[in-house]
Amino acid sequence: MNEMSRVATQVANVKLLIDGEFVESKSTQWRDVVNPATQVVLARVPFATADEVDAAVAAAKRAFVTWRKTPIGARARIFLKYQQLIRENMAELAAILTAEQGKTLPDAEGDVFRGLEVVEHAAAIGNLQLGELANNVAGGVDTYTLLQPLGVCAGITPFNFPAMIPLWMFPMAIATGNTFVLKPSEQDPMVTMRLVELALEAGVPKGVLNVVHGGEDVVNAICDHADIKAVSFVGSTRVGTHVYNRASLAGKRVQCMMGAKNHAVVLPDANKEQTLNALVGAAFGAAGQRCMAASTAVLVGDAQAWIPDLVARARTLKVNAGIEPGTDVGPVISCAARERVEGFIGDGVREGATLELDGRKPDVAGYENGNFIGPTIFSGVTPGMRIYDEEIFGPVLVLLTAESLDAAIALINANPNGNGTALFTQSGAAARRFQEEIDVGQVGINVPIPVPVPLFSFTGSRASKLGDLGPYGKQVVMFYTQTKTVTQRWFDDDTLHVGVNTTISLK
Ligand code: NAD
Repeated sequence: MNEMSRVATQVANVKLLIDGEFVESKSTQWRDVVNPATQVVLARVPFATADEVDAAVAAAKRAFVTWRKTPIGARARIFLKYQQLIRENMAELAAILTAEQGKTLPDAEGDVFRGLEVVEHAAAIGNLQLGELANNVAGGVDTYTLLQPLGVCAGITPFNFPAMIPLWMFPMAIATGNTFVLKPSEQDPMVTMRLVELALEAGVPKGVLNVVHGGEDVVNAICDHADIKAVSFVGSTRVGTHVYNRASLAGKRVQCMMGAKNHAVVLPDANKEQTLNALVGAAFGAAGQRCMAASTAVLVGDAQAWIPDLVARARTLKVNAGIEPGTDVGPVISCAARERVEGFIGDGVREGATLELDGRKPDVAGYENGNFIGPTIFSGVTPGMRIYDEEIFGPVLVLLTAESLDAAIALINANPNGNGTALFTQSGAAARRFQEEIDVGQVGINVPIPVPVPLFSFTGSRASKLGDLGPYGKQVVMFYTQTKTVTQRWFDDDTLHVGVNTTISLK
């Protein structure tokens, strides 16, 4: 046990939320929540017991009986209040997030803000959960739809957006009339818990939102639980595929947003300054730990001559603790993550790629124990190399070349992932061709990280996603509700003479 883990016995325990109460877990299995810039232990998080998971689901099931009938305006007003509370507590939320996750304070505010946008959208549920009506579909017959909540829904979230991604899930699930069990990342659950406290303060009733912590066992218990109707997962492809298969087999509705390899295509006619800035920001921001990071750039034709400028720009980024002003690149989440990314860099060198910029073991004065890796760039990368074929999830940008836009499109379409892609060009015709031909669910045109705002849905595709409907936006209203179609006739004895109808037709 090192010096830092000894601190763990004195730090706070992260609580479970069951039936409106923040309770201490009875688990014997705990894990430290560690500041990735310093290795200081911030808290301990339990791996909840099977009984605790059952208690959370049972509380959610009881709460559903009344919550599903709570007027839509009353549900909406809770989220109006909630968005206000998140705004008022933004600085505190960002500070907690930076301490446990490592990203810079401005980026931590961005993480909270992109979740806040979903909360604002949830407050508009009165306009979103509307059915349809067709009048006179047959004589005296009207047909209309109800979008009814499913029951207890569950969410499992990753470490890289501990504010935004929980907020993708429980606000819209609850606003549509469901109750919820959340399983945050065990690596950084503290900002999620502060957001959950604020949700209760905003008026989410007891039992409507519950939280259990843990890892594989808790996730499997959620997948298998007979009283959970839908599971939303965001995380790696490996775990997401497991969750999708297991929860689907148990009869649940499931959506899984998973890993990625996002290509940015640079045409030689692109605005050079803006493109270089966009690439560097999108590859190295959040230390590359974004599912929509531009981790791969395809330089077309004469744009291949921009590599020295790209490297020079990446060199200017400041690697430091996220809490320090002016930091561009904070630490990666854990020592294991740092070793994993360094392993990828070693493999890239062994496989023959050119290491243009080596970010391993940077000097970070005052934070010598942090999990830092500086911006790293490889050129001469080709499919078949591990640094191209796998998601690195660190501050490593790999550069490929293509002779034409069509060749770049073919390369991207041959990659299994479909989370995001971007094209840099000043040609409208090239942009339109790209948008039409590219087989990726989220496309940016001179926008490096095209994550849609919640008026739309997150629409990653192919190997980056399982399930038909995405998080937030209109799609998630469909995900969290069952459409019930009512076909209705009221007899008016004086005017309607239907008689016996032995056909399938409505008369
Ligand atoms: P992860 O898959 O390791 O963990 C995600 C969740 O699954 C966590 O809550 C974790 O506790 C749980 N989990 C971990 N191992 C498990 C197992 N064996 N069985 C069951 N559950 C398990 O992902 P992560 O490292 O926290 O997050 C990074 C990954 O998430 C990257 O691959 C990234 O691309 C992806 N991601 C995708 C999106 C998207 O929208 N497509 C968004 C954010 C992150």
